Amino acid sequence: MNGKLRRPLIAGNWKMYKTGAEGADFVAALAAQLGSNPGCQVVVAPTFAGLYQAVAAAAGSAVEVAAQDVFWEREGAYTGEVSPGMLTSLGVTSVVIGHSERRQYFGETDENVAKKVRAALDAGLAPIMCVGETEYQRDEGQTEHVLSTQVPSGLSLVDPSEAARLAIAYEPVWAIGTGKTATPAMAQQAISFCRRELAATLGGAAADRVRILYGGSVKPDNVDEIMAQADIDGALVGGASLDLASFVRIVKFERS
Ligand code: PEP
Repeated sequence: MNGKLRRPLIAGNWKMYKTGAEGADFVAALAAQLGSNPGCQVVVAPTFAGLYQAVAAAAGSAVEVAAQDVFWEREGAYTGEVSPGMLTSLGVTSVVIGHSERRQYFGETDENVAKKVRAALDAGLAPIMCVGETEYQRDEGQTEHVLSTQVPSGLSLVDPSEAARLAIAYEPVWAIGTGKTATPAMAQQAISFCRRELAATLGGAAADRVRILYGGSVKPDNVDEIMAQADIDGALVGGASLDLASFVRIVKFERS
């Protein structure tokens, strides 16, 4: 499949920023600026506390709302957790899973990521599964080893028929929130490696259907070059998704 046939996806990860009211104002303004056909799928991921207001503000627009995490059980005595069904009942359509900040600060493991991806798919949520190496791992030449562990482990409970509902975000940890961006060529190289790992895990036809995003200091001034790479189907954007003008420019990337 020609990579350009996969619908581009630009997702904004708001991390622990914006109250519900601030998020709703942002979504309403974003929807108004993008109109009904922004040319790619546009998703914002507020905190759990902002989901309800963001979904309400996005109603009838081209903007979709994702969660930043999910638990794998349907219900139970799991204080502080939120189930996939609770997210879909709010109108949330996708969920970021295995973000490096969750791996780093909250003990997220590949095994948990796999269970969350499975539970999200079962509930009708589209997972955006994050993978990527730390600076130390890159310096030690372990990037491909890390990706060849994280990609198959995270997808170990997925059936190839579900590929079109999946997105993977390749986010080198050293480029997240640091202002350091992988060069477009580095991002392309790692992402094409992820696609080969996908092919080994789910088969070639399924691998062609999975969208792979780049994340790590994506900004208005580097998005066009990143999106011009053959295997890059979109971006997961942190800091630059918090500012309306900057996120709108990223969504309106120009692919050469
Ligand atoms: C992220 O949070 O996934 C991210 C890529 O952040 P930033 O764009 O700020 O590097």
